[in-house]
Amino acid sequence: MNSIDRTLKILREKEIKDSIYFNVVHELASAMNLIIEKHPEYEKENIFGRLMEAEKVLEFSVPWRDDTGKVHVNRGYRVQFNSVLGPYKGGFRFHPSVDLDLFKALALEQTLKNALTGLPMGGAKGGSDFNPKGKSDTELMRFCQSFILRIFSHIGENIDIPAGDIGVGNKEIGYMYGMLKNLRGKHELGALTGKQPGFGGSLIRPESTGYGICYFAQFIERQRKGDLRDKRVVISGYGNVAWGVAKKMEQLGAKVVTLSGSDGYIYDEAGICGEEKLNFLLTMRTLKNRSVKEYSKRFSVPYYPAEKPWGVQGDIYIPCATQNEICYEDAKKIAQNKGSYMVEGSNIPCTSDAQNYFIEQDYLFIPSKAANAGGVSVSFLEMSQNAQLLMWSERQVDRKLKEIMSQIFDNLVTTKMKYSLSNYVLAANISALERLSRAEMIYQYV
Ligand code: NDP
Repeated sequence: MNSIDRTLKILREKEIKDSIYFNVVHELASAMNLIIEKHPEYEKENIFGRLMEAEKVLEFSVPWRDDTGKVHVNRGYRVQFNSVLGPYKGGFRFHPSVDLDLFKALALEQTLKNALTGLPMGGAKGGSDFNPKGKSDTELMRFCQSFILRIFSHIGENIDIPAGDIGVGNKEIGYMYGMLKNLRGKHELGALTGKQPGFGGSLIRPESTGYGICYFAQFIERQRKGDLRDKRVVISGYGNVAWGVAKKMEQLGAKVVTLSGSDGYIYDEAGICGEEKLNFLLTMRTLKNRSVKEYSKRFSVPYYPAEKPWGVQGDIYIPCATQNEICYEDAKKIAQNKGSYMVEGSNIPCTSDAQNYFIEQDYLFIPSKAANAGGVSVSFLEMSQNAQLLMWSERQVDRKLKEIMSQIFDNLVTTKMKYSLSNYVLAANISALERLSRAEMIYQYV
């Protein structure tokens, strides 16, 4: 049995049934097998086994008081997966559905994503099963402060630099940063990213994930000698990433026609574009009982409760909501649209069945670890600005973001050719694992 099969066997025995983390490791095994053919020295050093296990896992209680005085206790997590390329880096997610298995999967994906950017960043992910929906600002603030109180000694600008994710925007990051500053007794701007622009945050950071995804669509169009102009774009979610995609797609001449939430989806034939609609996406997120239905009420467009948007005819599909939001049946509906392609916005949006279906059908799609790397890249640019005590203009940040996305795309194309691959999933996994393996060999201490 080689080191890859041995690692899979160990994890299969240790992890929970239907583990999403195990599925990610399983997907990576085929990429590592191809790398080891070219680098047999990685087999002897058990590089795969070393990269697939989290370096540190923290699990903690987060007590907080609501506005009526009642005390609640949520569970907090931080998975510091791998630091061989740099300090741990990855978002905090506040959502009732999270658990340790999901955070391990997301932290491993983040490690690979950060490796693809070519920047010196390790990978982590964390958050809590706290539900921010329906909470008052004072409740959110107390929760964020309590969360930081538990974790502040494990994060820092050269140790672990968290950012936002689902349920954590720059308001929550602001509450956390304020508490961190008080606990440290000094500012440490580089310890958290996604801060508000003007208060240590970078311009474009809120839009960056969405913008980066659109640049990937632009690169694909260029490769096919096409254009984004007048393309119909079907997306899910109505949060931060969805908003960034809608904003940039309008600038590039394409038309986003759907949005979705946990309750259903809306269809806007005229396109989700123009200042009024785009700004309304920001307003929706601040509503106490927020839901995508609010968009249909405000702009009188059809709303489909309890349905997903994947049956809508489109040229480009961009999931921007959550993990496993595209199942096998959804994949079949999407792939029916001849000539269309998908750029993954949310992390791990496809179930294994859906991903395998796309690959079998030779359907073009760009995996999230490459396509949504714009967010963490601009987080890195935020750290660079903080370190220099500078603030770059919107144009400067956007130009650097596009450069980074372009390097990631070129790297995928080169790896796909070098290994004669049929899809970008393997190309992304190989590119990331090659960089991580090289570093693991250089910095090894075992
Ligand atoms: P937000 O919290 O801003 O928005 C999340 C969106 O997803 C909302 O529209 C929400 O709808 C929907 N959603 C959440 N959970 C579910 C669910 N279980 N079923 C259906 N819809 C759901 O998050 P972001 O936009 O920041 O993140 C979206 C995705 O992009 C995530 O996968 C995240 O990990 C990934 N990502 C984000 C980055 C960032 O910079 N923010 C960077 C890289 C990746 P509702 O409110 O109705 O539940």
